[in-house]
Amino acid sequence: MEHISFPPLSRVAICGGTHGNEMSGVYMVREMQKQKADQDGSLSLTTVLSNPRAVDACRRYIDKDLNRCFTEDLLSAPVTDSTPYELRRAQELNAQLGPKGSQEAVDLVCDLHNTTANMGLCLIFYSLDWITLHIYKYMKSKITSAPVRAIQLDIPVSEAYSLESVGKHGCAIEVGPQPGGVVRADIFNLVKEALDLTIEWLQGFNSGSTFEGGEVEVYTMVKSVDYPRDPTTNEITAAIHPELQDNDFKLLRPGDPMFLKFSGEAVKHEGEELYPFFINECAYYEKKIACHLGKKSNITLPSASVMKN
Ligand SMILES: [Zn+2]
Repeated sequence: MEHISFPPLSRVAICGGTHGNEMSGVYMVREMQKQKADQDGSLSLTTVLSNPRAVDACRRYIDKDLNRCFTEDLLSAPVTDSTPYELRRAQELNAQLGPKGSQEAVDLVCDLHNTTANMGLCLIFYSLDWITLHIYKYMKSKITSAPVRAIQLDIPVSEAYSLESVGKHGCAIEVGPQPGGVVRADIFNLVKEALDLTIEWLQGFNSGSTFEGGEVEVYTMVKSVDYPRDPTTNEITAAIHPELQDNDFKLLRPGDPMFLKFSGEAVKHEGEELYPFFINECAYYEKKIACHLGKKSNITLPSASVMKN
């Protein structure tokens, strides 16, 4: 694997407010729309407020998590009076930016998210997408104010459930820690830096630059862990342990404390060494997820440049 080339990447969608209370993306998209930033050199930029009703209500979603609605099955489901708002919205977004898997789909979707977890800047994408991996490598080499990491979801494209899967290439840009409904300048600036570098990389790519390959580090999901619960009431009986809290991506070894029960005792991690992320993410309580655990590996990237005709 020495070199790969792709057609020019000229149509780019920047999306925010897919979760209506994740404010970096909401204000970023509004700001870009105010500045009418729809053309930038070789790029045509589409800015999208993905879930306007949830943004108005400052909630993650109205009926259903929009960022779980982009599987092929849900996108092709018939719409009736009882169809949840977000499912209808997903089909509208698929018509605007896709259709998913087609030649008409935009070249790149960047979907802006915030997490309450201390994750810094994290790119999340499906399978081996050389374009997003190159953008990640570029960001990692340029950004010094926060750690830059990547999470790769090993899910076939038909079952990919999030908005960025509608583009030919795509990633979620997940930045934290930031509480829901709150906008922090440091986090906003980090999102801005990530977007500016994405655009800079795309301009360079389209104008014929060759981007060197090399090793990049990615995290892959192994499993999710729920909070300890009372077997009869199903209520949680513990919080994330103070030694784990805010230590996203710090190796968790067997015997390391994970939870602190309200009764006072620690619950330890069992099994293999894994890396925790999305620790104590506010929106995951309803999903019964206290954190994800993953593995770290290296991917060898081929060098990349635009296809010349
Ligand atoms: Zn989100």
